Amino acid sequence: MPRIFLPDPPVTVPERTDYRLTSTHAEVMEFLAAVDAAGDRRVFLTRFGATPEGREQPLVVIADPPVRSAAEARASGKPVLWINANIHAGEVEGKEAMLALIREVVWGPEPWPVEEVVVLLAPIYNADGNDRMAPKNRPLQQGPSNPGQRPSARGLDLNRDGMKLENLEARNLTRALVEWDPHVFVDLHTTNGSAHGYELTYAPTLTPSAHPELISESTDRWLPEIRERMRERHGFEVFDYGNFLSDGAHEFVDEVDKEHGWRTYDHRPRFVTNSMGLRNRIAILSEAYSYADFRTRIAVSRAFVQEIVRYAAEQGPSLPAQCAKWDADTRSQARTGQLAQHVEAAIYSRGVEPVLIRGFEEGADPETGEKWRVASGPRTTLELPVWVGFMGKDWAKAPKAYVLGPELSAVAALLRVHGVLVEDVKVPYEATLTTFHLESATRAQQPFQGHNERTAKWKVGSDSVSVPAGSFRVDLDQPSARLIFQLVDPRADDGCLTWNFYDKWLSAGAGVEIPIWAE
Ligand SMILES: [Zn+2]
Repeated sequence: MPRIFLPDPPVTVPERTDYRLTSTHAEVMEFLAAVDAAGDRRVFLTRFGATPEGREQPLVVIADPPVRSAAEARASGKPVLWINANIHAGEVEGKEAMLALIREVVWGPEPWPVEEVVVLLAPIYNADGNDRMAPKNRPLQQGPSNPGQRPSARGLDLNRDGMKLENLEARNLTRALVEWDPHVFVDLHTTNGSAHGYELTYAPTLTPSAHPELISESTDRWLPEIRERMRERHGFEVFDYGNFLSDGAHEFVDEVDKEHGWRTYDHRPRFVTNSMGLRNRIAILSEAYSYADFRTRIAVSRAFVQEIVRYAAEQGPSLPAQCAKWDADTRSQARTGQLAQHVEAAIYSRGVEPVLIRGFEEGADPETGEKWRVASGPRTTLELPVWVGFMGKDWAKAPKAYVLGPELSAVAALLRVHGVLVEDVKVPYEATLTTFHLESATRAQQPFQGHNERTAKWKVGSDSVSVPAGSFRVDLDQPSARLIFQLVDPRADDGCLTWNFYDKWLSAGAGVEIPIWAE
């Protein structure tokens, strides 16, 4: 524990620098130590791992009666929420807002009914990225002067690592999510997209392969209600995350694009809020607006988390019961061969809706001279098509089980980190199984995250297969069956195939059989 030089109650770095600076990792740990020293038993300070450079990934567990473990959280029967901040370490207001909320729990006023929920706060997920501070890390963002960098120390984006888990930080997070099994996951960011009239935009899980009830619950119930409360209780305008796109549709632009309208980002589970949907858990992406000043961004992120936690608290035991039902539905559908999963997805428009637009002025950080943008002028309302959801264009039935040949041990190891039960095949056997023979494969020209992403087409057949000892069997009668399909199935659009685990067979040419068999 660091020595504490902070007043009682502690103040955050932005509060004591007139919102010019954000906290270093050491300053976050110092703040948490000051909270810990206050001795409030409802606030338990622990960690869910450490980064490659040895920085702790702190976790603050807030519950009354106190909760010290995942087993106690589960036994409480209350809604459990995981609030993740600083995944992109230049997007820092979530981190500062979480510290302020922790302080409110201890010194008051209570931000939410603490007896009704178990809240897990991870204020500084990308701790190494946080401390690589430089004024140029966040172009056009209205402060602070010392943002961290977007990627991890390895230079990889933690919000593209939801499936392959190449970063130690991501493996730590995934293990903790498997252990604590929160019913709600919130990921806090700052958007650097198009000019708009909101202080914050949000997205539910966007994968069409999530449980349909989960999609409608978060999209049609949670987020519209929380949006209303943000306006009524806090005076903040919030809306679905979106952007305007350039003609080539590759770049975000500030100019309103009436033809293509307001468009959200991506359905693929490399994004953590999408992979959480495949675990049958409500997930919410939060994007504070980078043209709003730092103080406002902290306030709106704080209010958004507060309203999510309050809303979850109101659900009481029905929220854990809902998640348990989605788990049970997923298992029984997989067991009976009824679990349909998308293999191709398309964005769709929810219809024409009012979207708030606002202008901006150019400005600069008075300390560093870095250019930034300041939202200014009146808000205007435009009626635009809002493309904020994805639907499956093509679907496949998930099998009852996958069998992976011994050469796919890296896939088995990855599944285990994801919390999937994998059985070792000790005795060879013969069985009639579904087989996948390669028809064609593509390899992206542009590297992305150190990979050249792959796609492939397969001829799906049925054959007598000799399964060797040393193979792995993955029964889909598990709550994570949707995630298993997306990871393992050679037809899935963001799984092991995408991220080069199957390259040996993709390079072997048409006709080759991959040692993945389906029951
Ligand atoms: Zn981000």
